[in-house]
Amino acid sequence: MSKTHTITRHEAQLRAATLDVQHYQLHLDVTDDAEFTVRAVVTFTADQAVGQDTFIDLLGHRVHSAQLNGHDVDYDGARLNLADLQAQNELVVHSSAPYSTTGEGLHRFVDPFDEAEYLYSQCEPADARRIFPVFEQPDLKATFGLEVTAPAHWSVLSNEPGAQRVDGDVAHWEFANTPLMSSYLFALIAGEYVEVAAGSWDERVPLGIWARKSLAKFVDADQMLEITRAGFAFYERNFGVEYPFTKYDQIFVPEFNAGAMENVGAVTITEDYVFRAPVPQATVQRRAITILHELAHMWFGDLVTMRWWDDLWLNESFAEFVSHLAAMEAGFEAAWTTFNAVEKTWAYRQDQLSTTHPVIADMVDLDAVAVNFDGITYAKGASVLRQLVAWVGTENFMAGVRSYFAEYAWSNTEFSDLLRHLSQASGRELSDWAQQWLHTTGVTTLSWQLDDDELTIYQSAPVRKHRVGIGFYNFVDGRLTRTDATELDLQEVTTITVPAASLVVVNDQDLTYAKLRPDCASLQLITQHLGSLDDSLTRSLLWGAAWDLTRDGEASASWFLDLILEHVAAETDSSVVFSLLRQAATALDQFVPTTQVQQSREVFAKGLWHLAETAESGSDVQLQLVQAYIRHTREATVVAKLAQRRGLEGFSVSTDMAWSALQRLVALNEAGETEIAAALAEDDSSTGYLAAVKARAMIPTPEAKAKTWQNITGGTLTNLELRNAVMGFHDVHDLALLATYNAAYFDQINELWAASSFETAETLALGLFPMWAITEQTAMQTSSAAQTTSYSGLKRILTELHDDVHRALAARAAF
Ligand SMILES: [Zn+2]
Repeated sequence: MSKTHTITRHEAQLRAATLDVQHYQLHLDVTDDAEFTVRAVVTFTADQAVGQDTFIDLLGHRVHSAQLNGHDVDYDGARLNLADLQAQNELVVHSSAPYSTTGEGLHRFVDPFDEAEYLYSQCEPADARRIFPVFEQPDLKATFGLEVTAPAHWSVLSNEPGAQRVDGDVAHWEFANTPLMSSYLFALIAGEYVEVAAGSWDERVPLGIWARKSLAKFVDADQMLEITRAGFAFYERNFGVEYPFTKYDQIFVPEFNAGAMENVGAVTITEDYVFRAPVPQATVQRRAITILHELAHMWFGDLVTMRWWDDLWLNESFAEFVSHLAAMEAGFEAAWTTFNAVEKTWAYRQDQLSTTHPVIADMVDLDAVAVNFDGITYAKGASVLRQLVAWVGTENFMAGVRSYFAEYAWSNTEFSDLLRHLSQASGRELSDWAQQWLHTTGVTTLSWQLDDDELTIYQSAPVRKHRVGIGFYNFVDGRLTRTDATELDLQEVTTITVPAASLVVVNDQDLTYAKLRPDCASLQLITQHLGSLDDSLTRSLLWGAAWDLTRDGEASASWFLDLILEHVAAETDSSVVFSLLRQAATALDQFVPTTQVQQSREVFAKGLWHLAETAESGSDVQLQLVQAYIRHTREATVVAKLAQRRGLEGFSVSTDMAWSALQRLVALNEAGETEIAAALAEDDSSTGYLAAVKARAMIPTPEAKAKTWQNITGGTLTNLELRNAVMGFHDVHDLALLATYNAAYFDQINELWAASSFETAETLALGLFPMWAITEQTAMQTSSAAQTTSYSGLKRILTELHDDVHRALAARAAF
């Protein structure tokens, strides 16, 4: 979103008190390939505000005519000012605007493979106003009627089913009116999309899976439909309300910024989840969670909606939490292991930054909303819901949710409404819980000491009420096996008598949200035997403890990297492997001193290759080891073989992996434009095109880097071109190539931020940051840039980057 055109919570509250919006009747013409035109008729009442003024949002349009109740209205580029309101009002606006290329509003994409055109909308949190005039806030729900004029050979999808009438080379589409919904859930998807699979849920709800023509053959729609149906069954049973909308389409859309979006009846999903080559099971599982997350929103978010973005956390955390419950039912039995490895790691990181905030955030305006789609809102919120459920019981939790849905269907609510229902259902007073978990910040560290049969557990600040499991592990047939377990509520210091155990694990089963600090004896045992623990969730918890020690500078990055090489091959959970290899990359990039990083990287890469050679042929862990190897190695001969799709015995190198290998060769100066062009000629898909963008950005000459910098900062790249160019830009083997850009970043970032939409600005601020130069000087420059910028979103990003640099300096000192 354009950062200068915010809407404040106060303005939204005033509008909600003044207006009641009935209906938007929209006609969009998308036959032109540069801009779309809109005719909108908005009907609303203002019984208590006759004669007063208000405004309606419309961002970046050319307004041809705009009349309220027959009188012309003014437009300032972001708002139409509505003066002299009547009890019953009709606003008629005719306008046009260019398509978006940043994934915000109505995005347009042309497939480089076949020149086919694709449009899709993305409106959350406040980008419906880029498409049509709208009272852009979640609590002014209305019905939407949509007509679309489009090229005759296109498919057009929206929230409700539509029918077309073809007239020469155009088609006129008319969609059924939606039920009451918030504007951020509006959807228009149009272009040469094809329906890959169709089906139904319970013969009641039509299901569709859609994708671009050129990707359709890669979509494994059967598995997606199966997961979707499992989700329908789970949610209808547990929520006590049948699916509230007419149909359920899931559409893979190009150049999508997020994972997916819960538009009513028309969920859009990133094409990263179309697998044209083998991907780790971690990614397959993440897709399943995403499918179930979006489906949960149809009830929690779409049917019952937050009043304002203060409750965004609840919207997202609830969907994230219940999607893991549903995933268990859909056959992903290790869903809580993934939750630990992925979600919690994200939450702990975010919660230790100086910018952390209570789960219930203070969203004063849209700028605050934009930066709060973060690890607190999604992951910490979901973690504390898991702790809440451990405390009140799953059945009570679901009973409260059911009565909440029954009371608030089709309307807007606040968190206190849900809390009241949960409290009634469980018979527990929850305001104290909410105060401890939702209104405070920070992660508690749980440390423990075992003396014979006496276990003492200590909480660091912030001290909270934790419901935890304690697991007792002993060696059985050479494996560390849980032989006993208990559950209890923790005090600030808790001492209990325990059965004999080789290893005690506090927060066994991962019910609470806390960092773990095992005692010295336990750490020694973990270092030796982590891979032999028989429970993937316990392993993930202890891997997490090891990572925290490393991030906190209490153990060296080399210890952590060795631990991975020692035990990763025994890891059966794909998400844990995925998370570990990502942490290894962070450790090498940030926590190893510059003078030693080359050697550490070499040792680690060699270790990975050795493990890949001895791993089961074609296994998930082997795939991930080879991917990580390509990321870290400087060994051109092996990479060259992989680029030519040769390498390990019995291991098939996919097109995507061959691209990664070629990119590494480019960075090593062992391949260049000729090889990139040849690879692109063989793979002229959109994936190939983006891989080439990244490869070109990796060419290791000062001239090429200068050109890439110009491209990146020139404002002409689409969101995904930009992301790939940025990734390639800083992936260098010789840091001297980037030296001149340390200063350039600080010189230009304010200007770049001001000139870009939020998504672009965020990519630039994070992706171009000189993380390649971890020095006191960078830390100082970052902190002074954070202090002087007048943009709150940029200030927050720079503050977090400053924290990262600081943490890296401390970790290096511990090396
Ligand atoms: Zn969501």
